Amino acid sequence: MASRKRKIEQEKRVFNELWTELYFFIELKGKPLCLICQKSISVVKEYNLKPHYDTEHKAKFDCLEGEIRKRKISTLKSSLQNQQNIFKVVADNSESNVRASYRGKNKLICDMYTDVKSFEMKLKLFIKHIDEKKLDHFPNCKKAVEEAGDNFVWQNITMRNVLTQLQTEFVNRFTDFKKSSLNMEIFQNPFAIDISEVPSNLQMNIVALQSNSTLKTAFKESTDLIQFYGGLSSENFKELKKFAQQIITMFGSTYLCEQTFSILNYRKNKNCSRLTDEHLDAILRVSTTKMKADVKKLASQMQPQKSH
Ligand SMILES: [Zn+2]
Repeated sequence: MASRKRKIEQEKRVFNELWTELYFFIELKGKPLCLICQKSISVVKEYNLKPHYDTEHKAKFDCLEGEIRKRKISTLKSSLQNQQNIFKVVADNSESNVRASYRGKNKLICDMYTDVKSFEMKLKLFIKHIDEKKLDHFPNCKKAVEEAGDNFVWQNITMRNVLTQLQTEFVNRFTDFKKSSLNMEIFQNPFAIDISEVPSNLQMNIVALQSNSTLKTAFKESTDLIQFYGGLSSENFKELKKFAQQIITMFGSTYLCEQTFSILNYRKNKNCSRLTDEHLDAILRVSTTKMKADVKKLASQMQPQKSH
């Protein structure tokens, strides 16, 4: 079994340069790729390539011989190269936008949820557009296609593959989001949620909230969800506040988590042997919070030192 596998792998490696001129195939990422229709074939063997050429392209391309054939091959090669470069840039850009948007210190988990959801929707749209040969959202591709004119061979498969791969990656990476999507929606807009969908422990609080017009206006005017939930009365909205706290304390990015560990390493070194767990806890809290200490209040609670 093992030796058979090795044998196939060895055979796979050898791509005969002659096949380019004979069958319009080149080697790309270890696989032979048809320059004409951009189909790739998994086994590097002449008997896999020749039939493809014979059935698909022979009739149209066999008339090209000698120099003309070579020139055609180099045109196809360079147009493939262009397509791939442009497409890679588009995919990289979209990806890095998303990556950048979910870094950052003060992000809530629901912001990240929104970014991911919107990117997934964009991907869906891109794929649909590629199928319809529309390039409105790929200005560079559009330009390249216009420039290539009649030389451009529409091969949606390559483009589609890049996008669907990205789509699958996203779905796999963010499966947890799907499970908590209802919670995110309640948290982000408690006034718009259908009460029958809300978990029963929150229902009474949400009903009270939705029928309170003052709070509704406050919510509309507020740009900070933490502030809004913080301002609700603990007595009347106990469950909802607890729920909000759970969501707010989830890491919206890895920033805070990484920051906390680096502070921990910095503080708990060999020179701080008398640092107790209690102190360390306090240091971490102070270093990572955005809250400011109310010094006036703290001072007023201190017992003044009596002078003798
Ligand atoms: Zn082909």
